[in-house]
Order: sequence, then structure tokens, then C-alpha cells
Amino acid sequence: MKTMLNLKSKFVCIFLLGLILCISPCLIIGCESGGGSDGDNNPVPPITYSTPCNSTALAAAQNGLQKQPASAYVNNIILRACQIGNVPIPQNGAFNVIRLNNAYYSFNDEIGYDADWLFQFVQNTGFMEAGDSIIYHEVGHLWAKKNGVGDRIGYDPQDQYKNWSQEYQADSFAGYVLKQLNGNALPSVQIYNVVMANWGLTHPPGNLRAQVFFSSWQQNKIILYARTITNTNQKIIEILSQLKKLSLIRDEIFKVGLNPYCPSSDDYFNTLLNQ
Ligand SMILES: [Zn+2]
Repeated sequence: MKTMLNLKSKFVCIFLLGLILCISPCLIIGCESGGGSDGDNNPVPPITYSTPCNSTALAAAQNGLQKQPASAYVNNIILRACQIGNVPIPQNGAFNVIRLNNAYYSFNDEIGYDADWLFQFVQNTGFMEAGDSIIYHEVGHLWAKKNGVGDRIGYDPQDQYKNWSQEYQADSFAGYVLKQLNGNALPSVQIYNVVMANWGLTHPPGNLRAQVFFSSWQQNKIILYARTITNTNQKIIEILSQLKKLSLIRDEIFKVGLNPYCPSSDDYFNTLLNQ
């Protein structure tokens, strides 16, 4: 409970809304209105995670470094999700952004996330899907932009419908990818309903986003504003087998108390990958 409350109170977005599509709004608004359970019924006890990823990175930040390349695990799931969407990976890469308390896809074709922020979702639900789905959401924005439905991309303070539509679209993509992986949708539903309950103009209410995410997961397809993915069945089978291997590696990293979203897990990741 304490972790989640801290998480809620810490949200700050350091980017201009017009340039970036965050999973969460830039939290001037706060998000205390969700109420309800935040993981108290979680059957899986959170592991002890005593070394936050960005405590080291923060020291570097004081020397001007605000972000570091994404972890090997994150780069790999972005690659595979892009392959599922049949789109190129972000041209400017992916980054663990210090104290972002958020995640984004930006117009300069870059994905950013905060490794500690993602991992708190995992700790609070007990499931890695809760963090992974946020990366898939950002890939969903990338997919929309590069797959011919990018007219809905970009925050517009005058157009709530547009803002909300693009979020539903990314949520739908995330639900679809997760289903393809045979992942559990409920941890993400919990995050939508509690942490992302009410964020005003930039994002739809969390319960509605949860419905879109869950429906896409359930129906195994992108249900909103989307073109059909044109991958061949053989290609999809290959991608999914690679992603399933990544999921197994991810779970091994998690079991030993490392954060797969943190670049400090890269050595262990590469060891497991090459076994
Ligand atoms: Zn978004």
C-alpha cells in the first residue's frame, strides 16, 4: 500500500504534452481518486527490491545525464512488439529516464520509461505483465503513427476525443500483444482501475481504458482505429516463440530480485539468452 501511495504522489512529467504521448498524464492532476484495492489481495507477495535502478543513474544525472539506454530486456520486447505490428523499431531508441515516473512515445521516434516506476507496478500486482503492458502501450503509439493511423497522434488541448482515441488505440494494441503472448490481463486491469483512474483531458478514465485493453486481449485483436496487421502466420509464430523465450528469461531475472527494466540486469539477461 505504502509503495503505491508513494508512487501516486510522485508523478511528475518533465516533457511537453504536445510532443509526447505518455501512458499517464503529466500529473499535475494527481490520481488519488481511484480508491479501492491497490494490491492488498495480491496472491503473490512482492519481492524485496532494495536497490532502485535509478539510484545509480541519479548520481550520473547530477552530471547532466538524464537518461540511459533501455535495458536489454526492454529493447528486446520493443523489437518483438514492433515485429508483431510490422513496423520498424523507434529510430532514436529507447531509454530509461531518471525520475520520469511515466512512460512515453515521442514524435522524434523514441520510447522512454522509468525502470523503477514500471517495477513498482510489478511489485504491487506480483505480475510482470503489469510493467510489460506499459511498454506495449507505447509501442502501440509507435505502431499507430507508422501504420497509417497517425492522424490521431499528438496531444491537442482543444480535442479531447482525439487525445482519448489515441490512448484507446495504444491500450488496444497492448491488450492484443499481451494476448498473443498468452499473458495475464488482470494485473494491467488493476493498474488501469487504480493508478490511472482519472486523469482528465489527456487520458480516458482508467475503467474505460481497462475495458478497451481487456476486450482487445479477450478478442485477440486490435479493436479500435486500427488496420489489420499484415504479418504472415509463419512470421507471427516465429516472433511469438522469441517473445515467449524472453518472458521466461524475464521471469528468471525477476526471481533473483533484479529489475528486468533496469540496464543493470543486462549481464544476467545476456547470460540467460545465450544458454
Ligand atoms: Zn499513451
